Amino acid sequence: MPGLFPEQKLVLASHNAGKRREFEKLLALPGISLLDAAALSLPEPAETGTSFSENARIKARAACRAARLPALADDSGLCVAALDGAPGIHSARWAGPEKNFAGAMEKIRRLLAGKNRMPARAAFVAALCLAFPDDKMIAVEGRVEGSLVFPPRGANGFGYDPLFVPDGHGRTFGEMTAEEKAALSHRARALALLRKELEKAESEE
Ligand code: IMP
Repeated sequence: MPGLFPEQKLVLASHNAGKRREFEKLLALPGISLLDAAALSLPEPAETGTSFSENARIKARAACRAARLPALADDSGLCVAALDGAPGIHSARWAGPEKNFAGAMEKIRRLLAGKNRMPARAAFVAALCLAFPDDKMIAVEGRVEGSLVFPPRGANGFGYDPLFVPDGHGRTFGEMTAEEKAALSHRARALALLRKELEKAESEE
């Protein structure tokens, strides 16, 4: 893809190690090397958007400007239907700076129990934005529906994975291998859409 990536480099604008691991596995762009925002010491912009896609755009644009290279950002989270979509874009914030996801999952349990809303439906959502130095942008969104289980199960993955059972499956993302999760996840679905958009953009170059 030399047209869109003349330097054959793409910055992964994420400081989240769990997401980075998944991207490195899922994002096989032939001939393009992935550079890590944290390793490049790129600043982390404030996520001031009101939607996943707005926040993904803010992060991708900031990394693209700072590195002067194409940059890919993900903004994602868990949306619980009975909690009006919370934690949603605040998914990372609910765990606090100490990344206490056990606490965040317990908060979800407590809120749902208070509303007598078990079992609960939820979706993982991932918005991706790929920003180019010439201001071109590709934005897509992937989603996977499922239900929540309490207590959380499994030690694989990251974040809220131990809570979430995707529809049609009996195990949580936290109990699945990285390969099993990659076949189903919101991030994998968003990346498949992104790949299609990239092919389209490439053919228009
Ligand atoms: P962001 O870096 O603001 O997009 O934060 C996203 C947060 O959503 C992460 O810190 C996780 O808490 C949660 N999240 C997003 N994707 C996943 C996933 O695939 N599994 C578990 N939690 C996720």
